[in-house]
Amino acid sequence: MDFRLSPEEENLRKSVEEFVREDLIPLEPEFENAPDIFEGSRWKSRAKLSHDPEVKRYVEMMENLEKQAEARGLWYLDVPKEYGGAEVSNVAMIAITEELEKTSIPFELGNHVSNILYNCKGDQVDKFLRPCIRGEKTSAFGLSEPASGADPSMLQTTATPDGDDFIINGTKMFPTFADVADFVQLFARLPGTQGREGVTCFLIDTGTPGYRVVRSIATIAGTEPCELVFENCRVPKSQVLGEVGKGWELNQAWLGTRRFQVGIRSHGMSQRVLRAVAHGFRHDSEETERAASTIGFFLGELEALRTLTYLGAWKADQKLDVRTEAADVKLFATELLHEVIDFALEIVGPSALQKRHVIARTFRHARSRRIVEGPSEIQRHIIQRALFREGVTLLELI
Ligand SMILES: Cc1cc2nc3c(=O)[nH]c(=O)nc-3n(C[C@H](O)[C@H](O)[C@H](O)COP(=O)(O)OP(=O)(O)OC[C@H]3O[C@@H](n4cnc5c(N)ncnc54)[C@H](O)[C@@H]3O)c2cc1C
Repeated sequence: MDFRLSPEEENLRKSVEEFVREDLIPLEPEFENAPDIFEGSRWKSRAKLSHDPEVKRYVEMMENLEKQAEARGLWYLDVPKEYGGAEVSNVAMIAITEELEKTSIPFELGNHVSNILYNCKGDQVDKFLRPCIRGEKTSAFGLSEPASGADPSMLQTTATPDGDDFIINGTKMFPTFADVADFVQLFARLPGTQGREGVTCFLIDTGTPGYRVVRSIATIAGTEPCELVFENCRVPKSQVLGEVGKGWELNQAWLGTRRFQVGIRSHGMSQRVLRAVAHGFRHDSEETERAASTIGFFLGELEALRTLTYLGAWKADQKLDVRTEAADVKLFATELLHEVIDFALEIVGPSALQKRHVIARTFRHARSRRIVEGPSEIQRHIIQRALFREGVTLLELI
């Protein structure tokens, strides 16, 4: 087991470190007063549609940063070589995100490309995949439904074959940015199937007849998921992503790799919160001494989270089955971040409840992370299932 980066990856990490130090950190004071939309990644889709001059000013700043990052060769890092990217390893992507998390500027390197879109074939590549890589199109992810969220195998949206098409009927809850995305990756099941069987993923353009955005839902996390309804929405077979009936594997692949990024992001957010607590310390008080010992304990746990995250990413690079590691990281990361924030709010007191305070801001994102992309209970369930499946092997380690 070796998490060291190759010399090229180490150079890349150093370039990101430099970019963060030279281009992002100097903008932090300016971003303290940024409109709310610049918390998280909302600005990438919604803010660009705004006519508010102040929002436009920040969008311009972000777009300049994109140009600077691209000029430094830091843009298409996780994109496969066949599409012109650097195809860096999972471990290197964790190291890069760790550098980015050293600043509070909500800046991500690269355009959002859902990893399952790399299953695009034929005309799908030029219609959906390449425009996402270039940042010209965005997509939403439509899996959760009113009666199937934590357990997506209960999904009820149907895809009924009809000649060369499928007819989609059903409701999707919470696909983030579906109202501003160019298309949705929609999961539906073939008639008469149950559980994981028959699940199929479709790429459906916004505005296709029968596809309706019912509402967008403002959340404390800053993102705005939507409710989507499909009523006799006709989609050609050519817009099936992957194979008919093999969509379950795609939704699992999407969730799996994201969980390691959640690990390193939660690590960075926790450190920023603990720094905010430490800044407020009065060095002579007993209370400070007690808080310092708790911070010391958290730092130990954070180092464990960091190691677990790198280990999972390394295993993913070795093409090992990382379902349990991904669940471990998602659970540990989001629960630990929540504990750190709760402690920070307690120590700093009412001033940390101001809407723009770093602790309050982080709280809003952190709470939803324990639910989104698989709630904590489901991660516990995955770990417990692995324990029963592998039983003795896992317990021997204890
Ligand atoms: C801000 C936000 C953005 C989102 N973005 C997207 C998106 O882009 N695409 C998408 O498809 N979905 C998205 N979601 C949906 C999200 O993934 C689901 O909310 C989540 O999976 C939980 O599903 P649910 O809301 O149906 O809750 P339920 O399935 O009803 O579960 C509610 C709670 O019950 C508990 N629970 C459920 N099942 C079990 C069990 N078997 N054992 C023990 N406890 C259990 C858990 O604590 C869970 O939190 C988003 C949600 C939010 C809030």
